[in-house]
Amino acid sequence: MRHGEDRPPVLELTTGPVAAYPEVLRAMARAVAYDQDRPFRDRYAGVLDKARRALGTPLPPVVLHGEPVLGLEAAAAALIAPGETVLLLVSGVYGRGFGGWARRHAGRVLELAVPDDEAIAPEAVAAMLARHPEVAVVAACEIDTPSGTLNPMPAIGRAVAGHGALLVVDAVSSFGGMASDAVATLADLYVAGPAKCLGAPPGLTLLGVSARAWAKMHANPAAPRGSFLSILDWEAAGAGGPFPFTPSVAEIHGLEAALELYLDEGPEAVWARHAATARATRAGVRAMGLALWPAREAIAAPTVTAVRTPPGIDEAAIRAEARARYGVLFSAGRRETAGRLTRIGHMGPAARPIHAIAAVAALGGALAALGHPADAGAGVAAALAALAAG
Ligand SMILES: *Cc1c(COP(=O)(O)O)cnc(C)c1O
Repeated sequence: MRHGEDRPPVLELTTGPVAAYPEVLRAMARAVAYDQDRPFRDRYAGVLDKARRALGTPLPPVVLHGEPVLGLEAAAAALIAPGETVLLLVSGVYGRGFGGWARRHAGRVLELAVPDDEAIAPEAVAAMLARHPEVAVVAACEIDTPSGTLNPMPAIGRAVAGHGALLVVDAVSSFGGMASDAVATLADLYVAGPAKCLGAPPGLTLLGVSARAWAKMHANPAAPRGSFLSILDWEAAGAGGPFPFTPSVAEIHGLEAALELYLDEGPEAVWARHAATARATRAGVRAMGLALWPAREAIAAPTVTAVRTPPGIDEAAIRAEARARYGVLFSAGRRETAGRLTRIGHMGPAARPIHAIAAVAALGGALAALGHPADAGAGVAAALAALAAG
C-alpha cells in the first residue's frame, strides 16, 4: 500500500510550518472581529500580555503581521544606523541569511563563521568584539534550523552585553521549544513566531524589544516609519493606542489560543517533551548506524534532529519513501545543507515521544527500502530505552 502524494501526510514531522494544534484552528474560525471595536481591542491587549509572559519581557512585545522573515528584515532596518558596523554570527543558513538585510543598512558587515555542523563559541564572540570596538549590532541565530544545531545563546548574549553592542536574536525555532526567552538571551530584539514550537500557522512575528532597542530605533533616522516594515509604528498599539493598519484578526485569534495552550501546559513541561522527543530520536538514529549532522551531540537542537545522508543515497528519495510508505513527512535541508541531510522536526504538536518512535521507524524503513542497511528494530529499541531512561 502506498500513501499517495495527493493525500495529506499522516504525520507531519516537519521543521515548520507544523500541523497546528486543533484548538488553534478552531480559534481561527471564530467570527472576524472589527479591529477598532472594544472587544477586539481588549482581546489584542490580552494577547500582548500573554506574549509578554511567554517572551519573558518587561515591556509589551510587538506583533508584526507577517511571518518572522518580516521581523528579521524589520529588525535589520530599524536597528542598524547608516554607516554602522554589524557582526554576524554564522553557523548556518539563517545566521548567514541575516547578512542580506544587514548589508543594505550597515556601513560594514563582519562575520564570525564556523562550519555548518558546528556552533558559535562565546569566547570567540568576546575575542572578536574586543578586536572590533566599533561593532554596533550583533546578529545571531539560536537554532540554525537547516543544520539542527544550537548556539549557546545566553553565553553569547553575555559576551555581547560585555561589549555594549545591541543584539538581534533569531529565536524562531527555539522559542517555545526550550528554555529561551528575550531576557535569558539578553536580546535587544528577540525574533520569534507562532508557526514552529507554538503550533500555530505561519503569518505573524513576535518581537521582544528591550528599552535600549526602542531608544536606538527612535534615534535612528533611517528606521522605517509609516511602512509595512516598521517596528516603531507598532509601539503605540502596545500601549492601547491605534493600530497603524488592520491587524490579521484571524491570526491573532490563533495566536491567543496557541499562547494559552503554552502557558496552561506550562513552558517547562512543553520544553521537557521537546527535549525527550529529540533525545529519543537521536538515540534511535544512532542505533541504526546513522550519523547526526551536528558535529557533537551537545550542540544538537531539541526542536529538530538533522540526520546526515549516508553516502550513495539520494536524500530526496529518503523523504519520498517515508512519505509514500508510511505517510510520514520529514523536512529537507536548505541551501547549503540541501541534499546532505534529512530533518525530523519536534516542534509543538509533533514534540511527543511517540513521534520519535514513528520518526525512527519511518526513517529506518525508508532507508532499508533504498537498500541501505538501517536496522529500524534496533533504532526503535534504542529510542524506547532513551525514553525509559527519561
Ligand atoms: C523558520 C525559520 C525562520 C522563518 O523563516 P520561514 O521562511 O518561515 O521558514 C527564521 N529563522 C529560523 C531560524 C527559522 O527556523
